[in-house]
Amino acid sequence: MALIVQKYGGTSVGSVERIQSVSERIISTQQQGHDVVVAVSAMAGETNRLMNLANQMSEVPEPRELDMLLSAGEQVSIALLALSLNQKGIKAISLTADQAGIYTNNRFNDATIEHIETDLITQWVDKGYIVIVAGFQGRDKNGNITTLGRGGSDTTAVALAAALNADECQIFTDVDGVYSSDPRFVPNTRRLKEISFSDMHLLAKSGAKVLQEHSVAHAWNSSVTLRVLSSFDDGEGTLICEQPVEGKGVIGLALKQDLLLIECNGFLEEELTELRKQYRVLIERCDCFQIVVPKAAFLQLKLAFSTKIRNISSLSILTLVGDKVEGMADSACNQLMANCVDIYQHSIEPKSLSVIVNQADLERAADILHKTFVITEQSQDNNLMIAVS
Ligand code: ADP
Ligand code: ASP
Ligand code: MG
Repeated sequence: MALIVQKYGGTSVGSVERIQSVSERIISTQQQGHDVVVAVSAMAGETNRLMNLANQMSEVPEPRELDMLLSAGEQVSIALLALSLNQKGIKAISLTADQAGIYTNNRFNDATIEHIETDLITQWVDKGYIVIVAGFQGRDKNGNITTLGRGGSDTTAVALAAALNADECQIFTDVDGVYSSDPRFVPNTRRLKEISFSDMHLLAKSGAKVLQEHSVAHAWNSSVTLRVLSSFDDGEGTLICEQPVEGKGVIGLALKQDLLLIECNGFLEEELTELRKQYRVLIERCDCFQIVVPKAAFLQLKLAFSTKIRNISSLSILTLVGDKVEGMADSACNQLMANCVDIYQHSIEPKSLSVIVNQADLERAADILHKTFVITEQSQDNNLMIAVS
């Protein structure tokens, strides 16, 4: 008998019918003789809906109250899933993160799990219950509700698996594994049977939202066996592990879309200091008064710098991940420019090559980089893969 932690994302619990089907999958795991602890996201679209409500009250909502609001989505789905299991005659109990003992720091909206007091979960598991824990939430040491950043239910699941010493952490989502790039944007992507923690971490960090970046780091640090699977179909999914059997060459292309290039009428030195302190400035070009920030920072930044802002445009980052991609910068940039894609900037880090382009060129650029550099079924020989952000 094994202890399995399963996580179901928003689309997987997006309707009553989907929740019923998730409960069947959980029951089938239990019938194979396993204990099951489940982490669940809010129903698809719910966290965005709550965010919109908050923005109707304030352009820049107060972080503590925002977490109080956003965490509500997960409380609905855990209860519905428990009700569905109960209705099918299965013992199940839902727990908020507070009840489940998930302690975080107090960085509202982007908290980090510090430890989990697993006693209550273990007691229920020992009594034969399926324990369903609200993903994405935590509590700080003063009892305030925190949230773990968008996509944070993945991290809840991995942290639970680590704390409970589970045999496997299974992330069920709306695709049947990790692909060489986002299969919804890029043609001819390939599902990876296995991928290393380090490559997956680079992909996630560069925008492949199939796994939240922190969840991969946590699994890597705690040696959690992590697998991405479809909640819609059966299959082996993708195993994220230390030493995959495949995984030489270019592994994937990650895409990050929500960036803004903000051009200003000059900065004072103290304004630059403030920018660096307050906002996640990804790039600054002081010579031409340009900064690149995540879209999420914009409303706050607009309030502080409105009179300075001259122009705003959307950018995307495409990141190729894999062996020797550092040496492919000239070739990648030439390919893109030959296809009329303007490059704002490119950068190289160990095992990753990022290219920043206008948002409007993203799909074309992704297609070009993926088919030229990434390993696909058709081009296994050249051992290449791309990730787009
Ligand atoms: P969930 O709600 O289940 O957490 P997400 O929307 O957060 O699901 O993550 C799944 C999505 O991640 C997929 O629908 C896909 O569009 C996107 N994605 C981005 N990059 C990849 C990739 N390399 N492989 C698979 N999916 C990816
Ligand atoms: N519901 C949260 C979000 O939409 C957390 C998650 O889905 O993992 O970001
Ligand atoms: Mg997700």
